[in-house]
Amino acid sequence: MSSSISAATLGRVRLVVQILSFLFLVYGGLLVGHYSAEKISGSLPALSCAYDQLNGGYCVLIPTQHQLHHRVGEALVQMQQFSYKVIIPLLFTFLSFYVFFVFLNKMFCGWICPLGTFQEMMYKMSHFFGLQKNHSLSVNQLRFIRPIKWLMLAILVFILPLVAGLGVAPHAAGDAFCQVCPSRVLTTLASGNFEQLTISTAGVADIIFSSIRALLFGSIVVLSMTMRQPFCRICPLLAFNALFQKLSPMRLVKKEHEKCEKCGVCTKACPMDIQEIWKESGSKAFHDDCTLCGRCAEFCPDDNVIQVKFGPIALFSSSREYYKKRIKQEKPEGIKPTKKAKLRPVAVEPN
Ligand code: SF4
Ligand code: SF4
Ligand code: SF4
Repeated sequence: MSSSISAATLGRVRLVVQILSFLFLVYGGLLVGHYSAEKISGSLPALSCAYDQLNGGYCVLIPTQHQLHHRVGEALVQMQQFSYKVIIPLLFTFLSFYVFFVFLNKMFCGWICPLGTFQEMMYKMSHFFGLQKNHSLSVNQLRFIRPIKWLMLAILVFILPLVAGLGVAPHAAGDAFCQVCPSRVLTTLASGNFEQLTISTAGVADIIFSSIRALLFGSIVVLSMTMRQPFCRICPLLAFNALFQKLSPMRLVKKEHEKCEKCGVCTKACPMDIQEIWKESGSKAFHDDCTLCGRCAEFCPDDNVIQVKFGPIALFSSSREYYKKRIKQEKPEGIKPTKKAKLRPVAVEPN
């Protein structure tokens, strides 16, 4: 008895366990079947090898590496791709959105937009050649035209792309405004490409959109010769900018309304025929249609009445001295200086 006990030493028991484990881990698959072996293996801390097809289980490092390789690694690659493909472009979109719509806001229209510049040049050229006929729009005309830019924004920029995304409208409507945008024609023409002016026959929607685009551009060319900024008045980007107007540090301020002589020269100088600039004060004077071109401030003959501001900083203030210089270069139509003071405008009732 004592010899049998002494024969079952810890060392021997351990050896038996080692041998049985070896057999189980190497050949155990034959015993418990592949499915059970697979289930057991996930939690085994032993270094049995997954490359052994007959084993009863394999090392926990296998699933660990497998998870790191196929799950965590792939997730990280996807995250990296996600950041390259989604996050970074999104950041740029937000940054450019902030710069253009919040920081510059209307300044983009009055100072940067190629189509705005083109319309202004066309009008100046026609004026130079004596072609110009209709300088300002009347209050009634403005009342009718002003809401169109909001309709353009709603229909072309929001609704049509959305319904195209839902599969209800044709694919081309996915960027409906871009399809008809006259700036697209202008900038490509300026780079020597006439393609955007031709009618596309790729499909019914393309025929419609490209026809509207060509028609719109042609109308702008013709209208720019007789009126100021014809497309700006219906431009959805102007409406979009107007949504962020109050958030922008760039603004037009009518500071000292009581000093305003109500001469109306500002409106006569304004390419958008904004009546509010001489009639109203405070934020009402900074109308949705304003492109922050600063002409009203340039032509206002009273000191500090109109200012173009960046936050609290006045970038430009109206002044009598500046007005005297400016009116020598250009006299906005409808301004009739008095005999007594040649550089002082008489009260002009804008349309
Ligand atoms: S209103 Fe439209 S077309 Fe006119 S300057 Fe602004 S963005 Fe350009
Ligand atoms: S209100 Fe003044 S700044 Fe605005 S568009 Fe008219 S002239 Fe330009
Ligand atoms: S030009 Fe100056 S003074 Fe004349 S109406 Fe406009 S804001 Fe008033």
